[in-house]
Amino acid sequence: MSAYEQFQSHIAELSDVLNAISILKWDARTMMPKGGAETRGMQLATLTRIAQEHFTGEKTARLLDAAEAEVAGDDSDSYRRRAVEQTRQYYEIIRRIPLDLVSDKAALEPVSEHVWAESRRDNDFKRFAPYLQQQLDLAKRQADAVGYQDHPFDALVFEYEPSVNAAKLKVIFGELKQGLIPLLNRIVAQDSPLPRNLWEHEYPLDKQKAFGLEMAQKIGYDLDRGRLDIAPHPFEISFTRNDVRITTRYNLNYFPQALYGTLHETGHALYEQGVDPSLTRTALTIDFLGKYPVGGTSYGAHESQSRLWENQIGRSRAFWNNHFDRLRSYFPAQLAGADPELMYRAVNRVKPSLIRVEADEVTYNLHIMLRVEIEMGMLDGSMKVADLPEIWNSKMKEYLGVVPPNDSQGVLQDIHWSGGGFGSFPGYTIGNIMSAQFLQAARRDVAGLDSSLDGGDYMPLLNWLQQNIYRHGRAYSASELLQRCTGSDLTVGPYLSYLEQKFTDLYRLS
Ligand code: ZN
Repeated sequence: MSAYEQFQSHIAELSDVLNAISILKWDARTMMPKGGAETRGMQLATLTRIAQEHFTGEKTARLLDAAEAEVAGDDSDSYRRRAVEQTRQYYEIIRRIPLDLVSDKAALEPVSEHVWAESRRDNDFKRFAPYLQQQLDLAKRQADAVGYQDHPFDALVFEYEPSVNAAKLKVIFGELKQGLIPLLNRIVAQDSPLPRNLWEHEYPLDKQKAFGLEMAQKIGYDLDRGRLDIAPHPFEISFTRNDVRITTRYNLNYFPQALYGTLHETGHALYEQGVDPSLTRTALTIDFLGKYPVGGTSYGAHESQSRLWENQIGRSRAFWNNHFDRLRSYFPAQLAGADPELMYRAVNRVKPSLIRVEADEVTYNLHIMLRVEIEMGMLDGSMKVADLPEIWNSKMKEYLGVVPPNDSQGVLQDIHWSGGGFGSFPGYTIGNIMSAQFLQAARRDVAGLDSSLDGGDYMPLLNWLQQNIYRHGRAYSASELLQRCTGSDLTVGPYLSYLEQKFTDLYRLS
């Protein structure tokens, strides 16, 4: 075996352990009876420790040294060389994180999440505040251990979105806000109520599931390598490209919840299923810092695909022109009198609201920016934990024009901070921005792309995405992918003009 092959077979074993961990997690979130929780926790802790020891041990260092020497002459873009370089980069970072910090984080997480859930239920921010402070202190220790130049946020966002930092995000968010807030104000002033009586009917869940799966397959989800289950918090998870599962949740009246949840997770799944088979069990399908197997290159890149398929395709006029009849064949009585245009308008209703996960395309990013600004403020000390409810509410007023009546619907609504997930929010907005840049590039490259989408043929788009994005796994960073596909880095122009066009038309704004 060559030095690279020996290195690769060592990484393949790590990949196997991480995939086994993921399967146990999928099971815990979908199928496991309540009684299994305690022993499942032990199984996960054991396997996680095995993975950690496998990766940080001396053997990895030895194999890496030898593999580096062997691939030094390879093309700098080659998968082999990228796999070795990335393993080296993360090997060094992970060794900088002290073991007592890792165990302090692991010990705090379940307690802190539990207290958060109760505080949210009882609308009691003061009870959660000391735990949030502890999570914040751990996050600062993590940032110091990993290292950063300008802002502690940079070290944390690196885990999710290595191509951005606080300074870059402030510029991007500033530009986005300048476009979004005026657009939102015009929509709100227009006050053209869209139809709501559609959701007064009941839509049996088995039919919702059947229609959702049909649409998922239409856009390219391969059920021989996938399946759809129910979960209270929908997610996609992959155990190599050959087994990529999604979940959704159902609302008996409001079927778009399950449909768009399914399309969103299918977007993530298409990315994973589209990874080049040669990358299976390699470093280019592992998130070393997060310790889980994944083919997509960053949170933002991944989210660009879920958003593209959910919103730019699934919430388009063409989508409903093509698939409304099929939907009505499942729900003839409920949809009597409805038509494609009505459905298109109904699933694109813009309304400033309190809850991020229910937000529409125009207001969604404002929810994210508020959170990211608060994270940065907490980390650099310009915002104190005790003041967060007030800061939250005043930002909600400024950006969205609504003020939460209580902290449960305000600063306590998201689970992220209770688990110490500082730095993960930007990925959602970066994903939205990237999705428009990618779609613009696909339109430039694929002749007649819009007429195939208008005809309900998604394969030309899927092929372009697979060729330019999916197949590379984690070989290239999000900003390298953008450069390769579009010739520029992250830029808000295409996304803002997409929103501007769509909602100017929908709301008949002048
Ligand atoms: Zn997502």
